Amino acid sequence: MSTTVVAKFGGTSMGSKKAMEKCGETIKAYPDLRVVLVSATSGTTNILVELAKLSIYGEKNQARIEQLLKDLEEKHLSMASDIGVRAETLKKIEELVLAAKNLAIGMSLLCEASLQATDSLLSIGERLSSLLFTELLQDCGINATWLDIREVMKTNSDFGKAIPDLELIKTLAKEKITPLCENHVVITQGFIGSDEEGKTTTLGRGGSDYSAALIAEALDASTLQIWTDVPGLKTTDPRVVSAAIKIDEINFNESAELSTFGAKVLHPATLWPAIRKNIPVYVGNSQNHLEGGTWVRPKSKNRPLVRALAMRRQQKLLTLTSLEMVHAPGFLAKVFTILARHKISVDLVTTSEVNVAITLDEPTSLTRDVARELKEHCHIQLEENLCLIAVIGNDIAHTPKLVGEIFKVTSEHSIRLICHGAGQHNLCFLVKRDEAENILKNLHKHFIENPVDIKPTQACPGVKL
Ligand code: ADP
Ligand code: ASP
Ligand code: MG
Repeated sequence: MSTTVVAKFGGTSMGSKKAMEKCGETIKAYPDLRVVLVSATSGTTNILVELAKLSIYGEKNQARIEQLLKDLEEKHLSMASDIGVRAETLKKIEELVLAAKNLAIGMSLLCEASLQATDSLLSIGERLSSLLFTELLQDCGINATWLDIREVMKTNSDFGKAIPDLELIKTLAKEKITPLCENHVVITQGFIGSDEEGKTTTLGRGGSDYSAALIAEALDASTLQIWTDVPGLKTTDPRVVSAAIKIDEINFNESAELSTFGAKVLHPATLWPAIRKNIPVYVGNSQNHLEGGTWVRPKSKNRPLVRALAMRRQQKLLTLTSLEMVHAPGFLAKVFTILARHKISVDLVTTSEVNVAITLDEPTSLTRDVARELKEHCHIQLEENLCLIAVIGNDIAHTPKLVGEIFKVTSEHSIRLICHGAGQHNLCFLVKRDEAENILKNLHKHFIENPVDIKPTQACPGVKL
């Protein structure tokens, strides 16, 4: 393991000259911090996503497209002027803004927003913020140098959610980043990469955390730091439950569940590279690095029954019904093959004699083609406007009274699906969207603010096959 620390600073941290200066203070406080990946300035990726979406309708949205392009330009030029960037950097910023305009106008002329063109457009956010941030850090006396991460972050060509090529990234990181780290702090972009032909790709929304984790893994880093707008991981989303409490230390398994089940503070894939290489992750507030944050380590000193609660919005429940299922092997394989062929990822599954219920994330919309193929084997029904709530902790499957206590809190609400027992670290269930926040608040009171005293029983060891 090297001593190198890799860090990621999120969108709010890049939001203004002042916010960037605070990030500079954080970088100065960690002499081993040699590689920094940044997000686009806050709100910029949303502007670029909206531009791509509007372009599909062509000239009808011309006024809004022009307004968004103006916002993009003004925001970055005004930050460039606040920072007082050199003429050379200003030229690069103007060129990137022009590239965004050309792409957006080209896409709207064609009335087409291919995933490939959208990725090129979205990449402009991170390319702009990293240029501004590099220049600001240089002014603060940090020997910062800018790198285009697309030279290192090699992915396949699944535009919109590309899959990284771990071996190639490792080789290229050692070749292109390690020598720069000796005398510089390398400033580069999260979220973006490039495929074999050099075409720009992205890792999916919120992917900068994952980018940083991949670079930490490639460089065998001693720590991965995620600097954001909250002082660490909390027991639930503080925007929903103001009583959420900061977690000082959490283990890899719990944290992976927390991010998978909706805690936006970490992209769900962030923990995978860290787990593969046993790299501890520190999550802290970029605007006050002294405030203390959360350590995510392979094992934690304490293992509470309920550590945290998470909520994933915009869930759909797909129910498949078929008599074919009764005592007939192969039905599940058939439907999962169809979903896999259409790249629909299945989250949770429960089955009964003639039904299978599956949760899907809202953006993975069930297209007509998929529905038609499924209907060849079963009846299908879709419920929308649901939220998934996850209770995350330890020994969840071996604590007899836990389910009863959860049902006490949710007794006034109908629960659409429950997943329990597959793992030791979570129990999750679907509820109606309008009721989800209240349920989360009540669960937080019951299990975290005034925790009920319940203990796990001895785990029944399975036989390892
Ligand atoms: P960044 O732009 O730095 O990547 P994000 O907005 O992606 O920041 O993530 C930070 C946000 O995650 C916080 O402002 C908070 O509202 C939200 N969040 C959700 N769940 C949690 C949690 N359990 N602990 C801390 N923050 C959480
Ligand atoms: N800028 C990208 C987004 O907003 C990636 C990130 O911030 O992690 O999704
Ligand atoms: Mg984020």
